[in-house]
Amino acid sequence: MSEIAGHARVVIIGGGVVGVSALYHLAKAGCTDCVLLERNELTAGSTWHAAGNVPTFSSSWSIMNMQRYSAELYRGLADAVDYPMNYHVTGSIRLGHSKERLREFQRVVGMGRYQGMDLDILTPEEIRSRYPFAEIHDLTGALYDPNDGDIDPAQLTQALAKGARDLGAKIYRFCPATGARREGDEWVISTVKGDIRCEYVVNAAGYYAREVGKWFGRDVPMMVMSHQYMLFDEVPEVAAWTAEAGHKLPLLRDVDSSYYLRQEKNGFNLGPYERNCKAHWVTPDDPMPEDFSFQLYPDDLERLEWYINDACERVPLLGTAGLTKNINGPIPYTPDGNPLIGPMPGVPNAFEACVFTFGICQGGGAGKVLAEWVMEGETEWDMWSCDPRRFTAFCDQDYTIAKGMEVYGHEYAMHFPHHAWPAGRNKKLSPVHDRIAALGAQFGAYNGWERANWFARPDDDTSEAATQTWRREGPWFAAVCEECEAVRDAAGILDLPGFSRYRVEGPGARDWLSTLITGAVPKPGRIGLGYFADAQGRIVSEMSIMAMSEDFFFLITAATAQLHDHEWLLTHLPEGLGVKIEDVTEQFSCQILSGPKSREILSGISDADLGKHWLTHQSARVAGIWCQLVRVSFAGELGWEIHSKVADTPAIFDAVMEAGKPHGLKPFGMFALNSLRLEKGYRAWKGDLSTDYTVLQGGLERFVKWDKAEFIGRQALERERQHGSKKRFVTLIVEAGDCDAPYMSTLWHDGEVVGETTSGGWGHRIGKSIALGMARADLAIAGTRLEVEIFGERFSATVQEDKPLWDPANERLRA
Ligand SMILES: Cc1cc2nc3c(=O)[nH]c(=O)nc-3n(C[C@H](O)[C@H](O)[C@H](O)COP(=O)(O)OP(=O)(O)OC[C@H]3O[C@@H](n4cnc5c(N)ncnc54)[C@H](O)[C@@H]3O)c2cc1C
Repeated sequence: MSEIAGHARVVIIGGGVVGVSALYHLAKAGCTDCVLLERNELTAGSTWHAAGNVPTFSSSWSIMNMQRYSAELYRGLADAVDYPMNYHVTGSIRLGHSKERLREFQRVVGMGRYQGMDLDILTPEEIRSRYPFAEIHDLTGALYDPNDGDIDPAQLTQALAKGARDLGAKIYRFCPATGARREGDEWVISTVKGDIRCEYVVNAAGYYAREVGKWFGRDVPMMVMSHQYMLFDEVPEVAAWTAEAGHKLPLLRDVDSSYYLRQEKNGFNLGPYERNCKAHWVTPDDPMPEDFSFQLYPDDLERLEWYINDACERVPLLGTAGLTKNINGPIPYTPDGNPLIGPMPGVPNAFEACVFTFGICQGGGAGKVLAEWVMEGETEWDMWSCDPRRFTAFCDQDYTIAKGMEVYGHEYAMHFPHHAWPAGRNKKLSPVHDRIAALGAQFGAYNGWERANWFARPDDDTSEAATQTWRREGPWFAAVCEECEAVRDAAGILDLPGFSRYRVEGPGARDWLSTLITGAVPKPGRIGLGYFADAQGRIVSEMSIMAMSEDFFFLITAATAQLHDHEWLLTHLPEGLGVKIEDVTEQFSCQILSGPKSREILSGISDADLGKHWLTHQSARVAGIWCQLVRVSFAGELGWEIHSKVADTPAIFDAVMEAGKPHGLKPFGMFALNSLRLEKGYRAWKGDLSTDYTVLQGGLERFVKWDKAEFIGRQALERERQHGSKKRFVTLIVEAGDCDAPYMSTLWHDGEVVGETTSGGWGHRIGKSIALGMARADLAIAGTRLEVEIFGERFSATVQEDKPLWDPANERLRA
């Protein structure tokens, strides 16, 4: 008889903390027919040597959710599975050196409070009282996280493994997977001990995930960094303090200097994320070994010198301790530093739970999320920040290495709203890139496409340093204001390469699309927004549907949604229906011409019928070149989107610019577009529109056609309509200070948290700070006064009528 099962419902490849947590959560969810394959002993990859820090801090809502869940799980795990382990909840102090850093902390305190965590801001003196050995003279304050701690990663993994085994799941150690193939509806995973057939497979192979991905035809976007921490000898003062206090010192994180310093027994553990960092296994002379189980890289202390000195200045006691051991291990990175958890792009019944940079603190939550993906096909929390489909084909190895190194070297950096990270740029350039660069464009990358964020005037400061602020105003502010005014009073042009688009054609296409969206499918010649809901009525996507004929459509969606939306369409296409779906993103581009003078500008250079109404489209010529002219405007003015073949973009751009000269046409950028769309209440995908909200909560009832045949999400939405929504979308005018409300700022009413913002910014046409968000339903009534907590300060805000702040009757759009 074979040593291993020949069949399982789910096979997980990789027995690090993440794979084992996935196994545990699947088993807990009732899926006990699961097998985990580990090539060596459990933890042999990155897990065995991890420092084991378990922070909850994150400025991302979903990552914070995952880490908070992990910390809660770990607290009860030893008892739940009867496996004792070392988990010290010590709290942590995150040091701030600047006002901007304190603002970041304040925002996270607000988010944490909303998730039920009691984070707090400390003054420098309070830091001293919690950590008497720290120098505080140059600090502005700190964030205190009482939930932070450290766990033994091997014990954690073994505890999860015990829990999974007790529930009936199987773990095969020293059983490497060696390949995968698809046979019928099954995966066959080969191992050194025989084949296992399964319904679902999970790649949880840590830093080997790219090798495992190849079996599925998948190029996993990842690279490997070398990461070190140093252990120091016992320090008598620390021992004495600990004996008296009865607990360990909290962990110190000096995020501006970029390291953590933790009490390890009665000594220290110092772990820097150094700027002068080192990638491994990225060049032919440094190949990735076949098997690196339980191995480390050679020590490389020179790289850490600055950090050691800095830490010794911060905690002079550290300078008295001898260095006893250095750990230098592989740590995998994706291009944005977040892991991959979710469907493997383009591969049926295959999932990823790999490339974890913080797998110990995220492992618990990741297991929950992965189990939900496998069992239910969707997750409780919107997990786009970790969805493998967020990286599309342009993320080649060079890009991934450049971004991975950038993220590692800035692991604790603040992510300012007007800052664009410089590494891995210019991957995809519009054919008019040089033209708009010459006009002063300051670019940002959108799914790899370079788009103008704003247009600098000759004396504007375009340095990266100037963007290191949470404040609304910076060198871009006056320029963006001028761009918005041009769109309002004359016209603006925005080159917008990279919209994702799919050609959907074939008999039955209309009826099929109707089952996917909540609303009506537009008639031929018209374009409309389609909202795609999941079975719970939650917002999966928003696409523009351009009907070319009864059964022929172009679906246009966000640049970053390219793989996600394509997959949603494909997986919901019934077999045998003769509808073809083709991704034609690379073939077309788009330029937005918007503003009251757009008609006059186009009339001289186009044969189009410019009297056609709002939400129509037509095949036309601009400057003698074919294009599809679409009468819509995300900016909320009279205007057209000019969709053309990519290669034709320059001729159209030049002709429009020339024709626009006498009319005051100006190029505008994404910052202006964001301001303009906020004034219209137009939602942005994965900010305002996410699976954290249902279509009804999102205030999109006018896009639900109750009297049509079945559509996904209908039953849930009908139930919600009967019982009422708990939350409702609101537009707020905020009496803000010098910052607009960032994503996930909390809303207050009568001393209670009653909701959150989903986006915010300055409306240049109305001269006010706007926030879009979700409030308790009984408060989502025009005129209600709320407060928005922006970086720790509460500002008055008023709920607006449920219509656009600018041009409420859409008269300018219809002009
Ligand atoms: C020095 C250092 C310190 C760190 N400190 C922390 C910390 O304090 N907190 C934190 O959250 N994170 C920390 N990390 C990161 C953490 O170690 C990783 O994020 C985490 O261990 C990843 O877990 P994993 O399960 O995804 O991958 P891994 O632990 O690498 O597990 C993958 C497993 O897959 C197995 N495998 C691979 N290929 C196959 C195959 N073909 N068949 C079967 N099995 C296979 C491997 O043997 C391995 O056991 C640290 C990392 C380093 C390098």
